[in-house]
Amino acid sequence: MSNQRESTMNPDLTRYHRQMLLPGFGERGQRKLLDSTALLLGCGALGCVAANMLARAGVGHLRIVDRDFIEMTNLQRQVLFDEQDVADGIPKAVAAKRKLARINSQVKVTAVVDDINYRNIEPLADGVDIFIDGLDNFETRYLVNDLAVKKGTPYMYGGAVGTVGMAYAIRPNADDSKATPCLRCLFEQAPPPGASATCDTAGVIGPVVAMIANFQVNEALKILTGNIGRVNPTLLNIDLWTNSFMQLKVAHARDDGDCPCCKRNQFDYLEGKAGSSSTSLCGRNAVQLVHRQQVDHIDFEAIAARLQEHGPVTTNEFMLRANINEDGKDYELTVFEDGRAIIKGTSDMSVARGVYSKYIGS
Ligand SMILES: [Zn+2]
Repeated sequence: MSNQRESTMNPDLTRYHRQMLLPGFGERGQRKLLDSTALLLGCGALGCVAANMLARAGVGHLRIVDRDFIEMTNLQRQVLFDEQDVADGIPKAVAAKRKLARINSQVKVTAVVDDINYRNIEPLADGVDIFIDGLDNFETRYLVNDLAVKKGTPYMYGGAVGTVGMAYAIRPNADDSKATPCLRCLFEQAPPPGASATCDTAGVIGPVVAMIANFQVNEALKILTGNIGRVNPTLLNIDLWTNSFMQLKVAHARDDGDCPCCKRNQFDYLEGKAGSSSTSLCGRNAVQLVHRQQVDHIDFEAIAARLQEHGPVTTNEFMLRANINEDGKDYELTVFEDGRAIIKGTSDMSVARGVYSKYIGS
């Protein structure tokens, strides 16, 4: 490329020159990107990488929703944050907005500090062209999936824990031949509470999160610039510790199954009929979380084995109790056979939901 071409380019677009050279991108694709709004659900490890790349690429408006604050243990992989953010105790969404403003001042960033639930997701998604998954639990993913199917909004699913990650570009109900299965076509039920590892119990390496988030962004850029034919139709599944890279063919999953969401149009999570609900237990400095979905079996032994290093854990046939120190605060977590949990040490429902997601899982 010649310097002359760069200098005669519309100055607003100069910074995007290198990606505009890509096949099917061009000035047209860049302008589409600048006109786009992306909703980033969660701004932890996946969300940081995604927000960083989307802002640099020039997605016009980024709306970032996250309920959490930054802790020192986040810095190993949450690339938008630094030690000063931990010292300042600012919410992740706000810290991300500040950082992104220095990276690309052309991008409008809206920071929302809130728990994502069925009551607020529709207003949060208003006017949004694409959903980017930076979530840490399946329940909220199903909520996002419900709305994606209902509105026909593309949803870039991604998840990573330990050394394993998965990502998939979902285009539900697309009115072209490239429509895909939805998340519930692939995983009809969320794993029961405690069945899957979380980053806070199994650990996580930074590179797997960065790879998954970059895959999500890559597919988002294709979709937002109108390169639908280039979207990867497979479910990416990687394990960086065993050197496994798989691309699973899942295009038939919708036809093969009887998906309650995209085939039967049951939006159980969006309508608040499925998923957990939380109640603050008055006067007890405790919150109760109730799973509305039927929970068959909780493996207390497996959860206990994972939680042991965080503090004393006791189990009996009815419940598991763990004492956890999280960010200098002590919580007592009690999980019952039916998935119900009581988190003592807070009356804030979003804090309780956060503790539950981190240590028990979806
Ligand atoms: Zn489906």
